[in-house]
Amino acid sequence: MTATKTNYFTDARQVIAGGVNSPVRAWQSVGGDPLFVSHARGSKIYDTAAREYIDFVLSWGPMILGHAHPDVIEAICSAARKGTSFGAPTESETQMAQLICSAIPSMELMRMTSSGTEATMTAIRLARGYTGRNMIIKFDGCYHGHADSLLVQAGSGVATLVIPGSPGVPECLAELTISLPYNDIAAVQEAIERYGSQLAAIIVEPVAGNMGVVEPQNGFLAKLRELTTQHGIVLIFDEVITGFRFIFGGYQNLVGIKPDLTCLGKIIGGGLPIGVLGGKKEIMEVLAPSGNVYQAGTLSGNPLAVNAGLATLHLLQAKAYSYADVDKRTEQLCRDMENMFSAQGIPVCINRFHSMFTLFFQAGPVNNFLDAKKSATTFFARFFHGMIKEGIWLAPSQFEANFISFAHTDADIDCTLQACANTLKHL
Ligand SMILES: *Cc1c(COP(=O)(O)O)cnc(C)c1O
Repeated sequence: MTATKTNYFTDARQVIAGGVNSPVRAWQSVGGDPLFVSHARGSKIYDTAAREYIDFVLSWGPMILGHAHPDVIEAICSAARKGTSFGAPTESETQMAQLICSAIPSMELMRMTSSGTEATMTAIRLARGYTGRNMIIKFDGCYHGHADSLLVQAGSGVATLVIPGSPGVPECLAELTISLPYNDIAAVQEAIERYGSQLAAIIVEPVAGNMGVVEPQNGFLAKLRELTTQHGIVLIFDEVITGFRFIFGGYQNLVGIKPDLTCLGKIIGGGLPIGVLGGKKEIMEVLAPSGNVYQAGTLSGNPLAVNAGLATLHLLQAKAYSYADVDKRTEQLCRDMENMFSAQGIPVCINRFHSMFTLFFQAGPVNNFLDAKKSATTFFARFFHGMIKEGIWLAPSQFEANFISFAHTDADIDCTLQACANTLKHL
């Protein structure tokens, strides 16, 4: 009999900073050592002890088709056989850009990167270069990747670890970023009155995912569009999570608002590293080589990522899967969980938008980061571990979104509800 190896995290910590290559993977806020993954397929993910879990993290959003979808794997393999990187343009990149442009018309021209972080970082640089202004507005609890200018009052891992800014980001740069409460248009108006002529951009998650799921309220985005147009400020929608999550297109299609620039990532890479920045021609042309704002990447438009993305987008476009079905399943899951909690007298506020949701352990409502932070995070940690024991893998932080894929079945939902009932018995 071979002994089962159990010290994966101990080994990792010897050679990888904090044992992980991205902070939230470390389970720091929920306690315990993170599970190491051996493989995943469809809605299921398997740890190194061969235990099976229903996966609601889905690589933090990208795996909308479920893990290891055969068409995506085939696209990656056949691309790999032709070579993995050329440092020269390919036709697939144009095809992918055409497809994105047809789905999200505000993206007249685009540029591909290897991560969402690069897309948002470039968006800020471009907005500054285009307007000749330096200040930007973002919103508390929104996360736009880890570029210096955007790590102020940020969501995701920054929120989970309770880091207000980040050491290593020079004060003089952080000072150029104003962070305001999400959904607070009066605060935006005030900031514009004060700094209007110095503001290059407003960047926003059109539906927030990185403080947990929070929807825009009372025409928040329409008012942002109005104000930015009036004051010559570049409006950036960070649709890295929301792009292709709800429909074949962005959240902007659902509400009929056209931002000046849009950032994409996650789903459009089919599980491979990717990011895209796109928008108004007049602004995008300021990027080098047509303009002089510099941006580049050795592996940008990488053939594996682009072909995995193309395969994913083709399936979504062909309506091979129904967004309505996945939304319905998510709705049922959230409604039944809510009933279970209220039957036990446990305060919970479940914010759901289409196929993404967060269980905030508090009475709610949760409309911004300040609200989100009122949640009972210790209780969340116990719930998280209870669910893991029952074979359900939720996001290991109170301030994150959970996702459902097209691979999740009604049986997966029933199984999750049963697991939730069992977990509540022991809390
Ligand atoms: C994940 C995310 C990013 C960063 O993308 P990476 O690929 O992790 O660099 C940016 N913005 C939002 C809204 C995200 O959720």
